[in-house]
Amino acid sequence: MTPRKITRQVIVGDDRVGRVRIGGGAPVVVQTMNAGYTHDIDACVAEINRYAKAGADIVRVAVPERKDTEALREVMRQVNVPVVADVHFHYQRALEAVEAGVHKIRLNPGNISDRDQVNQVIDACKERGIPIRIGVNEGSIIERRDKARRAEELGKFFAGHKSGHLLALMIAKLEEYLDIFAERDFHDVCISAKSMDAALVIDIYTEISKRFDYPLHLGVTHAGTRDSGCIRSISALSTLLANGIGDTVRISYASDHIDEVKDAIEMLCCLGMRVRKGVELIACPTCGRIQVDLFTLVKEVEKVLMPELELPMKVAVMSCIVNGPGEAEGADVAVFAGDRRGIIYVQGQKVANVTEEEILPRLLQECKAFEAKVKAGEARLGEKLVEIKPPDPIGELGSGAAKIAAGQVAQVSVGQTG
Ligand code: SF4
Repeated sequence: MTPRKITRQVIVGDDRVGRVRIGGGAPVVVQTMNAGYTHDIDACVAEINRYAKAGADIVRVAVPERKDTEALREVMRQVNVPVVADVHFHYQRALEAVEAGVHKIRLNPGNISDRDQVNQVIDACKERGIPIRIGVNEGSIIERRDKARRAEELGKFFAGHKSGHLLALMIAKLEEYLDIFAERDFHDVCISAKSMDAALVIDIYTEISKRFDYPLHLGVTHAGTRDSGCIRSISALSTLLANGIGDTVRISYASDHIDEVKDAIEMLCCLGMRVRKGVELIACPTCGRIQVDLFTLVKEVEKVLMPELELPMKVAVMSCIVNGPGEAEGADVAVFAGDRRGIIYVQGQKVANVTEEEILPRLLQECKAFEAKVKAGEARLGEKLVEIKPPDPIGELGSGAAKIAAGQVAQVSVGQTG
């Protein structure tokens, strides 16, 4: 992991909802955006608060019409997280949103470029101490006139890059726009430059990071549903974050935006950039040694056990004892399954040997007991009392290396994967 680039810092929020810091070495901030209409006040507030409850630090709303900015005033009274107004085409919406008390404005240089209009928005935000995100998008950045000529001209700067003209165009647009802000001595700015092409996202943010010291809002736009868009988004964003680039993230899915928040938080936890809340599940991918219905068991563990526990304990669910103990190294609680049985370990100590049906309830019982001990200060997460001693494969589990070597492993159903 490359140490994070220290950018300028902007602050989003107020006394009532709290202040979120973006950049300047602050923890990476998770954002999402409402899918519903802002003028539907009750639904808008409920949606924002649902995302906040799931862990979103900031939520953005669209304000395409006057009725949206009119509703925003009431929305701002009821939310419990900082809110950003997403403004396109109509600079007046930005002015109205500022008046309504929004915490941040997003402008798109691709569709609000009139210098006087931009100046009016800058002045309004400056007066209220509200930051602005300058968000260029591949989809809206191409200039309608002279597109081919300009793309060719600018593309020379990144001649070896397959999307060099887009890189150059986005950087040029940002530079032009930032000149307006610099003339107003306004630096309360975040930058984003999104594309649906993950490789281009990595390259554009890498180039922007070299050129500007404003905090960067990372995102892959129009990534698709969670199924198709997750890997596209996470591969680009985690690469950038691992390279020390990025101060806030928004993952975009064409499905429930709660998943954007969950996946962004999980990404940050996996990168060691956020402390995990709740269980970290380690599960074996299964192989030809499997002798319990592991896929079903893991799904049940996710559904039943994970919501019951608060502490970030590591729980390992392994299908056998051949590699299980090694693969579960570091787990606080682990189960190794054998021939329709499971042996449960807590902090390395064997505590139960149960049938397949009893694995889930007993695992839950042991996890809760361990959590209670940690809360009472009688145990510590990540601390082993003894090294795990693998059970006797035949005597205790009726399975394992000897049985496998003897070719006596029974075939079992592996459940539904869908
Ligand atoms: S724990 Fe056992 S069954 Fe699971 S992948 Fe490892 S070796 Fe295979």
